[in-house]
Amino acid sequence: MIHVTWTGAAGLKFETAEEMILIDPYFTRINLFKTFILAIEPDLAAIKAALPDMKKIKAVIVGHTHSDHALDVPYIADQARQAQVVGSASLDTLMTISGLAGRTTVCRGGERVELAPSAAVTMIRSAHGLVAGGKVPFQGEIRSTANLPMKASGYRVGTVFAPRLELNGTVFQHHGSANFIAEEMEGRTCDVLFLCVPGWKKSEGYPQRLIEITRPQTVVLFHYDDFSKPHAPGRKTRVMPMSDMKGLMNRIKAHAPKVNVIVPQVGEVMSF
Ligand SMILES: [Zn+2]
Repeated sequence: MIHVTWTGAAGLKFETAEEMILIDPYFTRINLFKTFILAIEPDLAAIKAALPDMKKIKAVIVGHTHSDHALDVPYIADQARQAQVVGSASLDTLMTISGLAGRTTVCRGGERVELAPSAAVTMIRSAHGLVAGGKVPFQGEIRSTANLPMKASGYRVGTVFAPRLELNGTVFQHHGSANFIAEEMEGRTCDVLFLCVPGWKKSEGYPQRLIEITRPQTVVLFHYDDFSKPHAPGRKTRVMPMSDMKGLMNRIKAHAPKVNVIVPQVGEVMSF
């Protein structure tokens, strides 16, 4: 049995009897004012509260280096000394300017990285969804000359991946941003497909073509929470404005009526 917790934004925590693996962990949930105006820093208390035993973490995988995916990663990696960190060259730069040079397994696209005897991740090249004004925000790479703390705008996107995690024989496909590259996905079937909700209307073929290629039994809709506000455990998840979750559900039902669709709450544990 694999327990998967949606930890907010694009964050997932995978737990088996032996392993704990994180993708895009983000607990700081910076408010909008700070995001646009001030330099931002990880909320150490929030991270510790969410991850009381960081020493157990076997791997931290990062899909891209916007702040809602990567801000908390250097601190977590520092606490979880044994954890393997997997991501882009931009993540490597962030880790280096955080005093953690040499910790990152740098991927460019297509690499399969062994994490444990029964766990591996393939970092499939992907694309970022289009946000305000039909653009990808904060393009380019995190600069090696940047000083921390930096503004959210310094957390540039870097290479975008859709990590494909194989764990105890189950395949989890993570799309932390609402887009994909069809040619990169060809032949990559999965059991569980995690789909970012915001921006889904702006990407052609998302998600119906992606579902057609990956043929999951289960689709999990996530990253729909308003991550500019703290999340109180047990509270109903605040939905990001203009997500049109219903429209997305209808599109999935129309194209893949047999697929099981889950819309978890932040903090909910799903078992596979
Ligand atoms: Zn992003």
